[in-house]
Amino acid sequence: MYPRAFHYHRPSSLEQAVSLLSELGEEAKFLAGGQSLIPLMKLRFASPAHLVDLNFIPGTSYIREDNGTLRFGALTRHAEIENSELAARLPVLHDCAAGIADVQVRNRGTIGGSLAEADPSGDWAVALLTLSADVHCLGPRGERSLPLSQLVRDAYTTVLERDELIQEVAVKLPPKGSGGAYLSCKRAAPVYPTASAAVELTIDGEVCQEIAIALGCVSLTPIRAKDAETVLRGRKISEKTLADAQEAARAAADPQSDMRGSADYKRALVGALAKRAIQVAVRRARGERIEVSPIYA
Ligand SMILES: Cc1cc2nc3c(=O)[nH]c(=O)nc-3n(C[C@H](O)[C@H](O)[C@H](O)COP(=O)(O)OP(=O)(O)OC[C@H]3O[C@@H](n4cnc5c(N)ncnc54)[C@H](O)[C@@H]3O)c2cc1C
Repeated sequence: MYPRAFHYHRPSSLEQAVSLLSELGEEAKFLAGGQSLIPLMKLRFASPAHLVDLNFIPGTSYIREDNGTLRFGALTRHAEIENSELAARLPVLHDCAAGIADVQVRNRGTIGGSLAEADPSGDWAVALLTLSADVHCLGPRGERSLPLSQLVRDAYTTVLERDELIQEVAVKLPPKGSGGAYLSCKRAAPVYPTASAAVELTIDGEVCQEIAIALGCVSLTPIRAKDAETVLRGRKISEKTLADAQEAARAAADPQSDMRGSADYKRALVGALAKRAIQVAVRRARGERIEVSPIYA
């Protein structure tokens, strides 16, 4: 189906984009990679009268390090992150970027658009939730920063004002002895995962000093599996603590049955993914180079 006719606007700065959205009112929307918005418009689930295109604004797509922080411009494409050596310093981000859909989607879709869309099955928010990530926003009243954990309020709903945009995502580089992993299980490449788990941890010998575990597709928003983290924090990583963490991750999930599987299946799946992600993260923290990719089932 064709989308409803709309007016197209091409601002030359983020400030201009925000002013335009404020002026144009309720029926205007930002356009980034268009990989969520355009399909919704074609299905007429969204019918904005105005699109304010962010794609031609200079300086909005970048990955850079400054003072131990990695900064991603909101318009940075999934594929740019997948192929970035800087981003590869955080394997959890590389795993995430490389596993999103297919190359066409990764070439267009952006990290900012993905976070703003807040799809409960989206990959980025899950991976970023395990890191100290901040989202820098720009609205009519100026700039503000908020922890990523405060961005998503509900399925497809963020705390962003209607005319406020994400301009940057900033992530602190973890200390030495850290490793991370993001694993998802999906039915085919160009579909969202059935379940996903992200882990970022720091080890000292056999002992897990710090850990963050996030789960995707098993609630209306991505969730932290805090009880699973508690099982491992300050303790030796053994078969027993791993099994306890798996069980705690399974118990933290609150999925809905749908065409991707029953709630019980997703609970079992996300526990197993969390366990595997912990195992990969530990090996990476020890300096092993391990490639992972989505599991197809
Ligand atoms: C076939 C297919 C498969 C997919 N599979 C996956 C998958 O497995 N995992 C996954 O995570 N994603 C998947 N996606 C979605 C993809 O990752 C999108 O890129 C992403 O969800 C939205 O990013 P975008 O840049 O395309 O945003 P757009 O579609 O342009 O915009 C999405 C929404 O965010 C708003 N917006 C965009 N940028 C900003 C900004 N900077 N500030 C504030 N608001 C903004 C828009 O107004 C719109 O409401 C898939 C998409 C397709 C078409």
